[in-house]
Amino acid sequence: MRLETKAIHAGRSIDPSTSAVTMPIHLSSTYERAGDGSYPNEYIYSRINNPNRRALEDCLTSLEEGFDTVTFGSGMAAISSLIESLPADKPRRVVMPDDMYHGIRSLLTDTDIGTNYDAVFVDMTDLTKVEEAINAAPTGLVWMESPSNPQLKVTDIQAVAKLASDAGAYSVVDNTWATPVLQKPLSLGADFSLHSVTKYIGGHSDLLLGAVIAKTDSPMLARLKAAQQAKGAVPSPFDCWLALRGVQTLPLRMATHCSNASAIADFLKQHPNVEAVHYPGLPEHPGHQVAAKQMSSFGGMLSFQVKGGQEAAMAVTAKAKLFIRATSLGGTHSLIEHRASLEGVHAVAPDNLLRVSVGIEHVEDLKEDLLQALEG
Ligand SMILES: *Cc1c(COP(=O)(O)O)cnc(C)c1O
Repeated sequence: MRLETKAIHAGRSIDPSTSAVTMPIHLSSTYERAGDGSYPNEYIYSRINNPNRRALEDCLTSLEEGFDTVTFGSGMAAISSLIESLPADKPRRVVMPDDMYHGIRSLLTDTDIGTNYDAVFVDMTDLTKVEEAINAAPTGLVWMESPSNPQLKVTDIQAVAKLASDAGAYSVVDNTWATPVLQKPLSLGADFSLHSVTKYIGGHSDLLLGAVIAKTDSPMLARLKAAQQAKGAVPSPFDCWLALRGVQTLPLRMATHCSNASAIADFLKQHPNVEAVHYPGLPEHPGHQVAAKQMSSFGGMLSFQVKGGQEAAMAVTAKAKLFIRATSLGGTHSLIEHRASLEGVHAVAPDNLLRVSVGIEHVEDLKEDLLQALEG
């Protein structure tokens, strides 16, 4: 089956007890055993597993062409669980990109993960530096995020995954921004693909959920499943149901996110009040060639820098009428955000940078709104 078909059918089944076409939401926390003590329908207790979670996990495994999926209550729960699942015989050293989702920096500075793991930051667009960083000391895990948040840096996934495996390290790609519609990290050689399902896969800004898809069975996957069941940072059946509802239109939505973002990048590039536009679809973007090689299209996220610094950038968001001033991304509606002030003490974003999640509204309405916001 092709991806568009899998997004609709994978993981789903007709409910055997009612023939309902849409899967029921199974809210039961526990499941009855047979008289002989066995579990007739495999389910025991909802933290261990439940039908809605299993259906979503099977669907994501199919979309990412992986071996299995483990879901969590948020993207950050997936990220922390994955790092903590590094097997005991692997060095607790993680090589990470210098531009990535800022929540990971908070995880490293403010929680046990920072105490227990040694994180090294490197410019992932420079393969020589990545190789040096991986080989400077025994490394357990190599983290990629491409395109990255919020500067849209592009990492050559195939090359970095190879450097990681040559060094005996696991590799993971945060594929939230690209989605399996545009990019397949496991096919490019990564061991794990990770999602904040909260974003494009859910697609409507109405749930929180995280997922890790594994390429093969491995000791790390076994530990990750144990982390899900024993540590218990699991998603609710309703959020799994919403995500499985959202994912059906993911391929359709991504097509419009991509074409709208591309048109807006072209528009912004020509505006005199814009200093720089970061979008991998632009031919002059430094990561364009690599993005063209590993992505089928360039995504719905972009950022741009406004002439006149932070104040001028904030003024643009203040004047926006259609673009909603909010963090997050991947919903049907367009969002605009001054990133440095959101990232706070961990900010690496330039102070005149605005991050845009381009929605699936009519592109001319979006352009008109940005035009009036930029000119005021
Ligand atoms: C939002 C996001 C996360 C965190 O996910 P939550 O669901 O908010 O916990 C991680 N990585 C990326 C790239 C994100 O955009």
